Amino acid sequence: MTKPIHVIGGGLAGSEASWQIARAGVPVVLHEMRPVRATDAHKTDGLAELVCSNSFRSDDADYNAVGLLHWELRQAGSLIMQAADAHQVPAGSALAVDRDGFSEAVTQMLTSHPLITIERGELTSLPPQDWGNVIIATGPLTSPALSEAILARTGEDSLAFFDAIAPIVHFDSINMDVAWFQSRYDKVGPGGTGRDYINCPLDKAQYEAFIDALIAGEKTEFKEWEANTPYFDGCLPIEVMAERGRETLRHGPMKPMGLTNAHNPTVKAYGVVQLRQDNALGTLYNMVGFQTKLKYGAQAEIFRMIPGLENAVFARLGGLHRNTFLNSPKLLDGTLRLKADPRLRFAGQITGCEGYVESASVGCMAGLFAAAAAQGRELTPPPATTAMGALLAHITGGHLVHEEEGAPRSFQPMNVNFGLFPPVDAPNKGEDGKRLRGAEKAKARKLAMTQRARSDFCSWMQEISLPQMAG
Ligand SMILES: Cc1cc2nc3c(=O)[nH]c(=O)nc-3n(C[C@H](O)[C@H](O)[C@H](O)COP(=O)(O)OP(=O)(O)OC[C@H]3O[C@@H](n4cnc5c(N)ncnc54)[C@H](O)[C@@H]3O)c2cc1C
Repeated sequence: MTKPIHVIGGGLAGSEASWQIARAGVPVVLHEMRPVRATDAHKTDGLAELVCSNSFRSDDADYNAVGLLHWELRQAGSLIMQAADAHQVPAGSALAVDRDGFSEAVTQMLTSHPLITIERGELTSLPPQDWGNVIIATGPLTSPALSEAILARTGEDSLAFFDAIAPIVHFDSINMDVAWFQSRYDKVGPGGTGRDYINCPLDKAQYEAFIDALIAGEKTEFKEWEANTPYFDGCLPIEVMAERGRETLRHGPMKPMGLTNAHNPTVKAYGVVQLRQDNALGTLYNMVGFQTKLKYGAQAEIFRMIPGLENAVFARLGGLHRNTFLNSPKLLDGTLRLKADPRLRFAGQITGCEGYVESASVGCMAGLFAAAAAQGRELTPPPATTAMGALLAHITGGHLVHEEEGAPRSFQPMNVNFGLFPPVDAPNKGEDGKRLRGAEKAKARKLAMTQRARSDFCSWMQEISLPQMAG
């Protein structure tokens, strides 16, 4: 009989990975520490417990990237989607679930599977060598002992304990008639061009209004257990900086030095917001040093006060919360294995995806990769044109690792979004023959992307001989 694959962590990712491995006919031992040891957010001993919202977000597979991920997971026979569909509660176009019914269904399906053994207990060190290939899916609240062991194996800069997320903007929503490309002092640096940042200029009145808005904006509170985790080194929220002094940001992330407005070279900006390319495709840019605890609504409103970002579309908004995750683009190979120790494969939020559905998807892929390896098969990853493939490509290489001296580690967890997909040829005229503009054009582009994704996902499933589900 094939040696079992050990999966550590029975959350969204570990449950899905175990299911996919067992479906492929390979035995699994799933280790979950609850209820022997608790986390700060989970409340039950159920597998795949949802720690916060009960929503899997949009179920629209035509126009929404997470809806497309639902579709792909369903095609792949996902346990998480089967349980979610069976325990759906009304939520408009979103897929929301009865959290208890959902978790109980996942627990029951895994417990009753003849190839799955569930062991309750905390893994406090890296898995022993004789376990062979292992999937680590211990999530954003990985227990401290295991976190320490991973840190010791991967190195100081490779495991973060806090998400200090700066907002990420779709490039095509930035007004380049106002903003311009330039690196500070035109420095080329290793691998740069001297034009690596997008700069948005503020005059004195705009800067003052922006500071007022930051100070007045509604903020989210730290949870009690987050407040005790030290995070402040080098990543203060911008509104905290603004509260410390009105000029602080002008001497920090908004400093105007070394920059000349290409549209108006004789006028010196009072403050400048810089955005740095975030993915290899060049479709996403992050606002440098703009981690924040402002509420999402306030962020969108306040950041659109910045000249050049009046119509910004955000791929994700900023945040700051407890989250354990790897610097995956540097550490993991294309099938989620630790380059330095390939018997260890990672899955779920610890790899730097964000969200229930994304974590389940990465669990699904890790399970498929691990099962194939156990059977002596090589599995081609899903193409980057699919939602799963786009997410995998982002985690394992699509994100640009900025290695300049002194640069903060820039990889931050991300939800699936259309900015992660390669560009697509979309029709530029409607059925009436008229040229598409604005929202209609964006809709046509999304539909072209999801249609391409569905077709490529089906071909990939055929290629790897994965039985396709109906629907
Ligand atoms: C407070 C909070 C709120 C969130 N809210 C949302 C939300 O509203 N919507 C959303 O989409 N996402 C949310 N997330 C993100 C969410 O956690 C992830 O999307 C998802 O649960 C991650 O799945 P996972 O399988 O990677 O981790 P988890 O679901 O957390 O599963 C990891 C499992 O590993 C176990 N474990 C940890 N360490 C060990 C160990 N050493 N040995 C054995 N077992 C271990 C844990 O007990 C847990 O069951 C939130 C996260 C947090 C922390």
